Amino acid sequence: MDRLPIFLRLTNKACLVVGGGIVAERKIRLLQRTDADITVVAPTVTTGLQDQIDKGEIRHHPHEYNTLFIKDFWLLVAATDDAVLNRRMAADADAAGKLCNVVDDNDASSFILPAIVDRSPVIIAIGTEGNAPVLAQQLKAQIEAWIPERVAALASQAGRWRSLVKKRFDTLRERRRFWQRFFSGPIAQHLLAGRQTAAEKAMRTELVCDANAKSDTAGEAWIVGAGPGDPGLVTLRAQQLIGRADVVLYDRLVSKPILDYARKEADFISVGKRAGAQAMSQDEINALLIDLVRQGKRVCRLKGGDPFVFGRGGEEVKALADAGLQFQIVPGISAAIACAAYAGIPLTLRGVSASVTLATATLDSDIDPDWSRLLNSGDTLALYMGASSVATIRNQLLRNGVSPELPVAFVENGTTQDQRTVLTTVGAMDDAARSNAIKSPSIIYIGESVAAAKDLQWFEGQSRAEKYSQLIDGEFVAVASM
Ligand code: SAH
Repeated sequence: MDRLPIFLRLTNKACLVVGGGIVAERKIRLLQRTDADITVVAPTVTTGLQDQIDKGEIRHHPHEYNTLFIKDFWLLVAATDDAVLNRRMAADADAAGKLCNVVDDNDASSFILPAIVDRSPVIIAIGTEGNAPVLAQQLKAQIEAWIPERVAALASQAGRWRSLVKKRFDTLRERRRFWQRFFSGPIAQHLLAGRQTAAEKAMRTELVCDANAKSDTAGEAWIVGAGPGDPGLVTLRAQQLIGRADVVLYDRLVSKPILDYARKEADFISVGKRAGAQAMSQDEINALLIDLVRQGKRVCRLKGGDPFVFGRGGEEVKALADAGLQFQIVPGISAAIACAAYAGIPLTLRGVSASVTLATATLDSDIDPDWSRLLNSGDTLALYMGASSVATIRNQLLRNGVSPELPVAFVENGTTQDQRTVLTTVGAMDDAARSNAIKSPSIIYIGESVAAAKDLQWFEGQSRAEKYSQLIDGEFVAVASM
């Protein structure tokens, strides 16, 4: 390790930034996250900095740099566009025993400014000792995604309770044990879910009961939408909860890379349903869910798309609520939304479609769709679970006066490597589905705006990308054999 990461308190510390351009402004913004007393030295400054100078938020010397400035400051940032001058400042700072950062000059800097994940009071600094700043930025983005937003509230609350815990437990060991339970148990879970009152209540109970008794037996269910298939379309919240679960109950349509977000020690239970043949009945799933939560498990119930769009999430949540158990619900990108985007089908389009209806074509459903009403208002209709009843859907549409010319699209395995889009019309949809062997899972889109997809397709570009990589391989072969 070349440099030791430390957290400097800059409150009211005199900091000097030399340079008035964009780079200097960026460094100043960073220093301003603390209460540093900042002076900028530069004949001219950006309008953003000028604005702050006018407001009195930073001081300004409109001069060139002078060695004499340094003695009055605690820390220096050399941010001019003159690399030689910057180095001279670093040497001056070194001679005067001051800390100095030189932009884009790792060697001349006595300290560097790391990439920061700021969930104050939780702060994570990432540095690469000047080797790969872009990598540091990427790692920062990954850590940002991984750390829950409310970790800030969790840490602050723990800070507020510290003295209480100190009073309650005499030894360091007891306190450490308490905090271990705290951060892996229900109180932290409440705080991370934004349930302040429940956290306070649990904390009170925790503090009055036996210090070493394990009281975190309260299980919880998370009804989580896993999105349509592409692991990139999982929400951050979903990813975090999957990673914290003791048990993952998942549907058939949840893809493997998404399950990989879970801990290796987690139990995985597939409750996968297939059209016709149910692996586990809804009642069995509900009962299993309740049983696991009652055992004190944190159960992530992972569902394809969104749990409340043809996902029977409503029934599972109702069962949990009736049993008086704790739950959270995380939305997911539903197949009709995702497949439209990945197939270039604008669900609404100015002057063409002013609304979109999500419906199911499973005709044994107790809600029989009113087809003519669905389509007469310039709607776009997105049908789930329709792949095996295309002929019936076409007949219904035609019988209800829908034009045989109305555009139709099938999107099969949307957002995955296997995505296929077939564009056709209501009149020809049955033939098109048959000749292309359209299978489940597919969304059927019907409406004028569907025609736009002709020009907006981009994702079946995944296979184009594969073709491209073959092409590149070909080129390499060609070059190699030259
Ligand atoms: N809750 C899910 C829907 C579950 S019902 C959601 O919000 O997306 C199952 C139906 O969803 C399938 O029959 C199909 O119509 C649709 N579906 C799910 N994933 C899909 C995908 N990747 N591509 C196309 N359709 C999909």
